[in-house]
Amino acid sequence: MKKILEVKNLEVSFDTYAGEVQAVRDVSFDLYEGETLAIVGESGSGKSVTAKSLIRLNPEPPARYKAGEILLHGENILDKKEKEMQKIRGSKIGMIFQDPMTSLNPTMTVGKQIIEALMKHQKVAKSEARKVALEMLRMVQIPNPEKRFDEYPHQFSGGMRQRVMIAIALVCNPQILIADEPTTALDVTIQAQILDLMKNLQEKIKTSIILITHDLGVVAHSAQRIIVMYGGKIVESGTTDQIFYKSRHPYTWGLLNSVPRLDIHKEDGRLDSIEGTPPDLFAPPQGCPFADRCEYAMEICRKKMPPQFETGENHHSACWLNHEFAPKVENPTQIAKKLQKEEVQMREQ
Ligand code: SF4
Repeated sequence: MKKILEVKNLEVSFDTYAGEVQAVRDVSFDLYEGETLAIVGESGSGKSVTAKSLIRLNPEPPARYKAGEILLHGENILDKKEKEMQKIRGSKIGMIFQDPMTSLNPTMTVGKQIIEALMKHQKVAKSEARKVALEMLRMVQIPNPEKRFDEYPHQFSGGMRQRVMIAIALVCNPQILIADEPTTALDVTIQAQILDLMKNLQEKIKTSIILITHDLGVVAHSAQRIIVMYGGKIVESGTTDQIFYKSRHPYTWGLLNSVPRLDIHKEDGRLDSIEGTPPDLFAPPQGCPFADRCEYAMEICRKKMPPQFETGENHHSACWLNHEFAPKVENPTQIAKKLQKEEVQMREQ
């Protein structure tokens, strides 16, 4: 697959009255054509700041890009002027947010908003733009698009508004769509519909998607690869199967054990949570950012930042447990135990 975006050693800080918040620390990853890459982590992990950096949507100041590069087809986004960024936003990289009501203009019909997004980046006649906008409404499965074209955002339900946002984001055929918690404000059934819609659209128009979420359950059927962030750093990355079944990081184990599953029941019927709070990014720890919450923490964890250990093909984990001299700890998640049990049963048959 062709690489379309490269993020190299990105460092983003916010300068506040209280001091420097080191929100993103030495983050590197690639995005390939046509794939869905999920970035997962709790609030404050740096995932949204990373995503917004890709189209320079963090307000500057207080945001400051301290180091690194974001290469879109080889050109560094961080070198672009605001005017150049306005051309990139929407036409090359589209974005949808958690709450469509705050992104849509309440005083403008949805049809006009789609047309406006299209005409900002492409020279098309108004009549042609209307046709394209109607086609987009059809594509995102808004029933009766001719009628709904002239309606205002408040006349749409939450799920329908998110469909409109997707139509606006995709109307110029961007190569990359960034979806920042696109289903968090929606109920579970609508969540599934929006995720299915994004998946179908991606197959049709071959856009690459970066899906930002705090919920690993959301990405299971949508993403091919997952990056797990914690304390402004990437702590694990790999394919969806590697992260779900062969994870090698205690933070990912915690996330996995907190996802409700119909096929896995704990004896006490309770979901696990990760005790404690994320690190203070005014003064991030010199060692592993997860050390204060990690039941496996060793002496070295607090002293030295773990490197990215290669734990499989394109699977990396920044955890000292992967060092050859570290104590052997098996993946303790319910999902890994279930898999091991199934493997044993299959061998015995
Ligand atoms: Fe836990 Fe140490 Fe691994 Fe960090 S490096 S996740 S503290 S075992």
